[in-house]
Amino acid sequence: MTAVVAALLGSAYVLGRSLVPDQTQRHATGVTTEGDGPHYADQTPEEPPTGAPTGTPTGTPTGIATAGQSAGPTEAGQDGSGQSASGDKLFGAHTETGNARLALTFDDGPDPRYTPQVLAILREYDVKATFCVVGENAQDHPDLIQAIVADGHTLCNHSWHHDVSLGNKSADQIRADLVRTNEAIRSAVPDAPIVWYRQPGGAWTYPVVSVSQQLGMTPLHWSVDPSDWQAPGASKIAATVLAQAEPGAVVLMHDAGGDRQGTVDALRRILPQLSARYELEALPTDPT
Ligand SMILES: [Zn+2]
Repeated sequence: MTAVVAALLGSAYVLGRSLVPDQTQRHATGVTTEGDGPHYADQTPEEPPTGAPTGTPTGTPTGIATAGQSAGPTEAGQDGSGQSASGDKLFGAHTETGNARLALTFDDGPDPRYTPQVLAILREYDVKATFCVVGENAQDHPDLIQAIVADGHTLCNHSWHHDVSLGNKSADQIRADLVRTNEAIRSAVPDAPIVWYRQPGGAWTYPVVSVSQQLGMTPLHWSVDPSDWQAPGASKIAATVLAQAEPGAVVLMHDAGGDRQGTVDALRRILPQLSARYELEALPTDPT
């Protein structure tokens, strides 16, 4: 499996990087030791921003390359490494809003520690956003799914268990995962549209794109990635987002999956400027 995945990705880059430092660092910070809620272990190597123009997708996605060799029991991983994916690795997944508006997206939740904080800040600035939720978390926290929708935000399917290698499974397995996730969401908010799908790790494959579209969802990637899942601190997260924001940008952040206080604090810092510079939108529920 690993060999196949690596080959899919163009393995020279992937295999040349080690995950060990990231995992060591995150364990050292205690991120994975908190008791409640799932933590999607960092199994995706960071894509260094060097050489990549801000907001311009280039390079190689690395998200799925590590799933087969990771130590984690869940095959879960964080998003972010796919930020610099070249167009031919995205299989047509959207990286921008398609208009001048900027979209904030929050992945991996909902999480009872951070999602309510994110919602409160968004409410304070009257900003609508999009939440890419994980099925098992939706099942565990239907109240938070309801709170997201009640505040006017839109939803995105982010798979049942944040399986970064989902795209390498059979179409039937992919379909079952995405359907299960949508069913968990709909059990909380029966009437809420779920028209976006974001592949964990940005590890797109043709089958996962195809199945998501068959299920009426549009594949959603991103154009701005502050790597907040690595908990670089609020200042760094805020600086990256503000530096790379541009009309049409889709900003990737996380309200779950580990210690996300830095993201919450960054959000509070960036919203005054972002909302002054751009019109912010929840990704529409009637994408074309
Ligand atoms: Zn994710």
